[in-house]
Amino acid sequence: MRLVIQKGMIQRTLETLSFDNTYARLPQAFYARLNPTPFSAPPYLIHANQFAAELIDLDPEQSTRPEFAELFGGNALAPGMEPLAMLYSGHQFGVYVPQLGDGRAILLGEATNERGERWDLHLKGAGMTPFSRDGDGRAVLRSTIREYLCCAAMQGLGIPTTQALCIVGSDDKVYREQIETGAMLVRMAPSHVRFGSFEVLYYRKQYDHLKTLADYVIDQHFPHLRDVDEKYAQFFTEVVARTARLIAHWQAVGWAHGVMNTDNMSILGLTMDYGPYGFMDDYDAGFICNHSDYNGRYAFNQQPYIGLWNLSCLAQALLPLAEKTALKAGLETYQPLFDREYQKQMREKVGLADEQTGDAELIQDFLGLLQGSHADYTMVFRELSTLSTKKDAVHEKVREHFLNRERFDEWAVRYRDRLRREHSHDEERCDRMNRVNPKYVLRNYLAQIAIEKAQHKDFSEVDRLFTLLQTPFADQPGMESYALPPPNWGKHLAVSCSS
Ligand code: AMP
Ligand code: MG
Repeated sequence: MRLVIQKGMIQRTLETLSFDNTYARLPQAFYARLNPTPFSAPPYLIHANQFAAELIDLDPEQSTRPEFAELFGGNALAPGMEPLAMLYSGHQFGVYVPQLGDGRAILLGEATNERGERWDLHLKGAGMTPFSRDGDGRAVLRSTIREYLCCAAMQGLGIPTTQALCIVGSDDKVYREQIETGAMLVRMAPSHVRFGSFEVLYYRKQYDHLKTLADYVIDQHFPHLRDVDEKYAQFFTEVVARTARLIAHWQAVGWAHGVMNTDNMSILGLTMDYGPYGFMDDYDAGFICNHSDYNGRYAFNQQPYIGLWNLSCLAQALLPLAEKTALKAGLETYQPLFDREYQKQMREKVGLADEQTGDAELIQDFLGLLQGSHADYTMVFRELSTLSTKKDAVHEKVREHFLNRERFDEWAVRYRDRLRREHSHDEERCDRMNRVNPKYVLRNYLAQIAIEKAQHKDFSEVDRLFTLLQTPFADQPGMESYALPPPNWGKHLAVSCSS
């Protein structure tokens, strides 16, 4: 789904943004009110996302005003903002942590647009909150750029995600494993409620509050369920479906989240809380993108199962509101839905227009070949579209990605047979495949180059990647090198949680 800018929409200024804070009207136990803590050094704009601005009717030109960096650098508030840090808890690496909450992010308010949509504006890196635990409440430029660019990449790929409005920098130092530059990011989502927002109320036995939260989320985001029977179980079943679809997208595009704790799981089924995530370069089903994930709990091929595990935590938290059997039935819809969605996306990736017996094996065997050859996931799928069904056609371009060429040839015979069985037409299939197999993804090394330049105040590469990733399926002249696998230094870069 691409963002469409509607002509003639209201163009608001920073002063006329419209806020309506429904979350601040929920019980005080749900949050702590506080203002952002500004940087000590002056804030400056690093990048602004015009598409995200349009979502809240904000004139993109507003980002050029110094007041923009002041506002989104935590130095000022706009009329109607009621800043607060949201409370939540969650299961981190399988262990329940009774209190988490926004430790370094502040919900500034909900901007409403002309279409009546609400967008939470969340300022990440805005200083300490009552939920900061041992943290300093700050975010570093490195992680902020990674989140900003990956939101753009996911949006471009059509994968549900939180949005990022802008990055504001400052010369303030932030202490991590080394001294780094600080930055703030404005994250936008229709809601920042997480699985963990429900868990904290359940484990505190605040069942009235739990119901209030569920009613609030249903009212705002699942309005068609307001008056149905067993509405909480129905709501849960919809969250199951959204989560299954989301994770099917991740698996198909070869993306790992890295920290799928229940506090990082959006109740709306959005990709959220970008940390040590990674797009795979060479295909490895057991890919672990998070350097601190020693046991591979959140390895690439574990994600579908972890999605289910996390949903079972949410089901547990909803027990005071819904029948156990109904929640269990909701949970049982996950696996078949995930399988169906994943297989559908994978069939599309290999250009199959219909579904036939043996397709799942054909796809699985292809992935096995990729794994054996450490072949580049994105590139091979993109180039597979050039394979012709014509007898004796040569397919050297794809073939050269494989170490064992004979095994690839055997697979290609099966694949061509399968394509012929549905009378696949080369050109038409190629077009179709190029619309689902991205040419450009946010490879870790590309983000790394942009970060290193940004650390020297050169933001041109952030801008270049941002633009590139808007249209990842299009061949973009002059950008060929961005589609290539990483150079040696850029393979298997270590990314950890310390951001
Ligand atoms: P994450 O793994 O980034 O989802 O973070 C887990 C929890 O730690 C969340 O409650 C964050 O708000 C909190 N947190 C992460 N980094 C910091 C930080 N630098 N200062 C305060 N809290 C943090
Ligand atoms: Mg988090």
